[in-house]
Amino acid sequence: MKNIASVALSIIFVFAISSCTKELLDLDNRFTNVEKDLWKYYSEFEYQAEIRGLKINLESLNISGEISDIAEKGIAGSCQYGSSINSHIIIDQPFWKNSTDLAKEFVVFHELGHCVLNRDHNESKNQNGTCQSIMRSGLGDCIDAYTLNNRKTYLDELFFDD
Ligand SMILES: [Zn+2]
Repeated sequence: MKNIASVALSIIFVFAISSCTKELLDLDNRFTNVEKDLWKYYSEFEYQAEIRGLKINLESLNISGEISDIAEKGIAGSCQYGSSINSHIIIDQPFWKNSTDLAKEFVVFHELGHCVLNRDHNESKNQNGTCQSIMRSGLGDCIDAYTLNNRKTYLDELFFDD
């Protein structure tokens, strides 16, 4: 009986520690009006900009974001901008549920490319048919190749294009 009680106690203790650690690790908890699942991609976008010498603060730019159903077929994300209040990103919930980290990053960065970097679509392709930019519309005929190997090249293109 004593053993069971101490096991229960230690489980509670471990749980208390881990929930506390989790709070402490939520360093990205500074994006108001941005759904939590998007925080790490927002942070990563700022970081990738920063290591390229660009200071971007998505919080002060007031880029809100949510994950919810986009009714239009084949659309994984959107960014409404040009509004005087703020820009707003929506990422499609079914897409989000079924996507890898890298695919999520691709779509969030693409939308931030519109909203923050003022990028338009770019359908350019490499000789092997792959897209030159993550700003491709998806309606052109280039092939997406956003892999861990190609990521740096794509992010250079995203942030340096002007
Ligand atoms: Zn787009």
